[in-house]
Amino acid sequence: MNDLFKLAIDKILASDEIFIASHVNPDGDNIGSIIALGLALKKLKKNVRVIKTDEIPTDYLFLPFIDIIQPYEASDIDLLIVLDCGDIDRLGKYKSLLNKAKTIINIDHHISNTKFGTLNIVDDKAAATGELIYDLLKNMSIEIDKDIATCLYAAISTDTGSFMYDSVTSRTHKIIASLIETGIDKSNINIKLYQSRSIERTNLFIKSFSTLKTYHNNRIAVVKVTQSMLNKSNAKMEDTEGIISFIRDIDTVEVACLLKEYKENEIKVSLRSKRTVDVSKICSKFNGGGHIRAAGCTIYDNIFNAENKIVEKIIDMW
Ligand code: 5GP
Ligand code: MN
Repeated sequence: MNDLFKLAIDKILASDEIFIASHVNPDGDNIGSIIALGLALKKLKKNVRVIKTDEIPTDYLFLPFIDIIQPYEASDIDLLIVLDCGDIDRLGKYKSLLNKAKTIINIDHHISNTKFGTLNIVDDKAAATGELIYDLLKNMSIEIDKDIATCLYAAISTDTGSFMYDSVTSRTHKIIASLIETGIDKSNINIKLYQSRSIERTNLFIKSFSTLKTYHNNRIAVVKVTQSMLNKSNAKMEDTEGIISFIRDIDTVEVACLLKEYKENEIKVSLRSKRTVDVSKICSKFNGGGHIRAAGCTIYDNIFNAENKIVEKIIDMW
């Protein structure tokens, strides 16, 4: 076991009340990891609070013990464990918890992680934070039961594009094999995650795809989602899940870009790349971050200017 894990485990074992923080716009890796860790620490009879930073997208409501994630107030925290957060802004309204915590354990796999914890278990070679939680639980000799395994499977599957990204290693598959051996209902998990798109979401996809623009000899593809499109299709922003991978999959495309209009002058940008471009670097120019092949940032301008700014930066950094 490496020293960082050992220090983290010592701290966890010595703490009776433990807060586990999620991030804004939580994704499958974040949600799966926080529930898995929460359930595991409850087995040790710890007083665990798994904090809800933002609404949980409906895609993940099928996960066991999803209600363990709740909003909490705290004045004084002995141990705060932050999962899958590249920087402190990802904690959104719960950023202030960082000042209230005596010890912060930061467990993450983003290359752009700012190491804001007292202890930082940050491994950009891990395909998902879920892999690091698996390692932590194994090192603690906590039994990975079916519920924990379901959450970790969802975490790793969603953060690897169903085991397709470059980040996937033989270790990823070994972890997944051992999760399957616990008897999880893999078929149901996959149907819930990937084959349960609503009509509203489908209508949003159609509207969004009709905005497709390509640049740089069709190597960059951009699509938009505006508030008006959400209203017309009766969809929510979380229903954009799946749009960007579809345009990344165009044969000529190296960089795919999705622009999400949260407010008139607040555009959330998602970037994905296929082979060569480091999109984390591009997003860091706009105070964002992420991974080499998947990253995000926010541009405070209208959606058309945001498109020009990000496309210019992508071409500039090609
Ligand atoms: P998405 O495009 O799905 O929102 O995010 C892709 C990846 O980039 C995720 O791993 C996410 O954590 C990271 N990411 C997205 N937006 C931001 C941001 O504003 N700041 C940082 N540091 N990371 C981000
Ligand atoms: Mn992740």
